[in-house]
Amino acid sequence: MGQLDNLVGNNCKLCPRECGVDRNKIRGLCKTFNRLEIASYNIHCGEEPPISGRNGSGTIFFAGCNLGCIYCQNYPISQLVKAKKTVSVSELADMMLKLQRRDAHNINLVTPSHFVHLIVDAIKIARDRGLKIPIIYNTSSYDKDDVIYALSDFIDVYLADLKYADDKISKELSGVSNYFGIATKAILAMHRTKGALILKDGLAERGLIVRHLVLSGLLENTEKVLCWLKNNIPNVTVSVMFQYFPAYKALRHPSINRKINAEEYFTVLEFIDKLGLDGFVQEI
Ligand code: SF4
Repeated sequence: MGQLDNLVGNNCKLCPRECGVDRNKIRGLCKTFNRLEIASYNIHCGEEPPISGRNGSGTIFFAGCNLGCIYCQNYPISQLVKAKKTVSVSELADMMLKLQRRDAHNINLVTPSHFVHLIVDAIKIARDRGLKIPIIYNTSSYDKDDVIYALSDFIDVYLADLKYADDKISKELSGVSNYFGIATKAILAMHRTKGALILKDGLAERGLIVRHLVLSGLLENTEKVLCWLKNNIPNVTVSVMFQYFPAYKALRHPSINRKINAEEYFTVLEFIDKLGLDGFVQEI
């Protein structure tokens, strides 16, 4: 049994929530048992250019999530855990190989943190069966840094959110009061193990992209996040996303109950420019 399996056992402490449940019997705060639950897998063309490329990214959406974001745009999958299929490790490996046969540029593991002990076994099997394309870990960054170090041989590219720099906001919007400390440690571990983003023929081959979704009325949070990235990660590649819309419970919130406006959009663009950050900006 490996280091990651030991963290699950019958007292799960795999992720920073450390809820300590026996996932062989009940669901944890991530809303899942100790078995792989997949919402969908397909070719996806809407990621950043070096991820989607021309052929698309081979996305695998895992059900459940260890955060409880009130605005989650995938909430039927992440929060309500609907439309899921339970698969074995070997079947997950076969999904990866099918996506490779469909010419996906990479395997994009979306919200993998609570299944990572099973995912590494699937990657081993898939590689034995001929998987060659890069593996992308697409995460909220609410991951233990020890887990990130343990993933070093399995993951090629991190597509990692940095959502908040303020614990009050993370508690209110995602249900955890220690997001910033946990996520920044995890992101530093990703950068230490994989380094800055490396492209081959315009496609991500190795490294780190940090994503930040701008939320309406919370520009101070965005500015703190971007400053932290500039000051702590040399040559960081950022992906700043402006396509926020209120979903799930967000319509009831006084600030994030609307899309961002033009003034907010241009203010953030100016700030990115002032900091001299490199990366991608998705439009409003
Ligand atoms: S992975 Fe799930 S069960 Fe395990 S500690 Fe995290 S939230 Fe709890």
